[in-house]
Amino acid sequence: MSAESRRNAIRRYGRQQATGLFLGVLFLSAFFLFERVAQSWLRATLGENIFFWGSGLIMFASLLIPPIWFRYLAVMDGWMYCPHCGGFFGAVRAVFCLNKRSQCNRCSAEVEIAPINKRHALSDNAYLIGGSLGVLAVMFAVSRVM
Ligand SMILES: [Zn+2]
Repeated sequence: MSAESRRNAIRRYGRQQATGLFLGVLFLSAFFLFERVAQSWLRATLGENIFFWGSGLIMFASLLIPPIWFRYLAVMDGWMYCPHCGGFFGAVRAVFCLNKRSQCNRCSAEVEIAPINKRHALSDNAYLIGGSLGVLAVMFAVSRVM
């Protein structure tokens, strides 16, 4: 049971990292579109200076907040930590070690984790690839409008 839960936590972590990135790019694209539509009105209302700094700030925030939020969720997840030494399994090297030898890469203790399920791996990869393509399509569409 705990092996299954840990495998699920690792999968969720991977998907959440991807989702954070996708959302960040989508929010940024949405902001670019909004700014393009409302630019003259914003400039007139806020003034040149506030407009410049404000849009810079929102650009960074829209790109960074979703990944940081999902990162925060992962850090709160108890399954993402080694039961022996408390090491975090979020790093690529730690996940690699877990998948390969069911071992913590920090203390080398055996960690219970279910083996990779082919169908799950396939759907995770489909999500990653589909999501990336979707985000690329949105970026392309936005770049044509700008
Ligand atoms: Zn450990």
